[in-house]
Amino acid sequence: MSPATLPRRRALLVCTAALLMWPSLSSRSAAAPDYAAARERMVREQIASRGVRDSRVLESMRTTARHLFVPEEQRPHAYRDYPLPIGEGQTISQPYMVALMTELARPQPGDRALEIGTGSGYQAAVLAPLVEHVYTIELEPRLAETAEKTLRELGYENVAIRVGDGYQGWPEAAPFDLIIVTAAPDHTPQPLLDQLKPGGRLVIPVGPTHAVQHLRLIEKDDDGQIRSRNVTPVRFVPLRRGSGWR
Ligand code: SAH
Repeated sequence: MSPATLPRRRALLVCTAALLMWPSLSSRSAAAPDYAAARERMVREQIASRGVRDSRVLESMRTTARHLFVPEEQRPHAYRDYPLPIGEGQTISQPYMVALMTELARPQPGDRALEIGTGSGYQAAVLAPLVEHVYTIELEPRLAETAEKTLRELGYENVAIRVGDGYQGWPEAAPFDLIIVTAAPDHTPQPLLDQLKPGGRLVIPVGPTHAVQHLRLIEKDDDGQIRSRNVTPVRFVPLRRGSGWR
């Protein structure tokens, strides 16, 4: 090889490499994920198609940035039809389950809502525009911290988070118009029934750990009578018992 051919070869190699990379570089920038479109599709194909009709709930599912509530490596999957890991062995529920539970709770603009199991903060964020105030309790301090940061950065101002055992509810903020429980106990906690207003709705998965549970809608009528019905079989992480507030 003459000394003159070496640089030419190198230049060729560089050009070839650049050409090979060009399509992937350009498609990478052109394919920046369109999360709004992904949410539209999610609502149409996973949620409305399965019978969720409440237009305010559908609108909240359309506008809540689910991808910002999951770990970065999970973002490409954020709008898919399944739950995702959020750390500490916990999961964010499948989008349809969040929408169904929210619809069953019948959120109204003046309502006080309680959520047990903050997790990523996503369910609280979906509820936030639909009610007056959301109170949410998380047993695992690290998850509560991350959720609080996400909600603050996204400007949710009507959500309060507390670290503790949600089995006890949040007596100081009670009574609530609606309560959504996103971890499964083996029975309905009496404190949650007590903290429900007359006319209130409690949506809760109940059943044994690591087996099929039932999503239950429990309503308290104006006379304080409790009515309960099983809506659908579900699978949630267990509601663990903690040691009060931290
Ligand atoms: N709603 C969440 C997902 C919840 S996963 C979201 O939108 O991301 C269930 C959560 O319940 C987990 O974060 C788990 O740590 C929490 N949890 C389990 N037992 C609890 C208890 N006794 N009190 C409060 N939170 C509890």
